[in-house]
Amino acid sequence: MSEATSLLRLQEIDLSLMRLRKAADQLPQRAKVAAARAASKKVASELTKIVGQRKDVEIDLADLDERKAMLTDKVSEVQADASPGSDHRAAQDLELSLSSLAKKLEKVDFDTERLLEKLETVERAERNARGLAERLAAEEKAQTDAWREAAADITIQAKELTSERERIVATLSPELMGRYDEARKRFGGLAVETLEGNRPSACRVALQPSSFSDIRRSDSDITTCPYCRRILVVSREA
Ligand SMILES: [Zn+2]
Repeated sequence: MSEATSLLRLQEIDLSLMRLRKAADQLPQRAKVAAARAASKKVASELTKIVGQRKDVEIDLADLDERKAMLTDKVSEVQADASPGSDHRAAQDLELSLSSLAKKLEKVDFDTERLLEKLETVERAERNARGLAERLAAEEKAQTDAWREAAADITIQAKELTSERERIVATLSPELMGRYDEARKRFGGLAVETLEGNRPSACRVALQPSSFSDIRRSDSDITTCPYCRRILVVSREA
């Protein structure tokens, strides 16, 4: 195969691969995969939020624990400092300190109780979200498998074309491949055109007689279209 023929076959293969990819994307199973994936993503972000809430509650509970330990120590301290037989005033102060500490402890217990209830709620929400995430992951896998199965024929064709493509690419010069890849990006796949009479097949702008004869006279059968700048194959093969 001449480089020009290989290049044209390469373009055919790439256009077929694009069509196959599009066909695979348009299978109804593909939309279900996307829906399952979107649902998973939503639950994952919900779960992140819930875990954040749970951690906040745990931090607040740890703070309350610490405060309770501190207040309890303080009570022991105040009680230890109280000397028996001190005067009435000192006894009154002692009682005031103890009752103020008791009130603070009561408040800590009350807050702890409330936070434990909140923790339970958040933990339940977390369990539910994790369960849902697992079910959605299974659903996504099932839909992906169904999609793969539906796309099996497409996959086989794509594999065959891909290995043919590799064989062709190996025979083309890196310079020509560079030009091809660049033009392919620029023209959405249709990088190469051929001459039909004096008209390039993609842009369809008739060549001026002067450029037409320049091209015919040149040694190379691969040139650049003077109008659209695609790679122009001037076939000399019968
Ligand atoms: Zn052109």
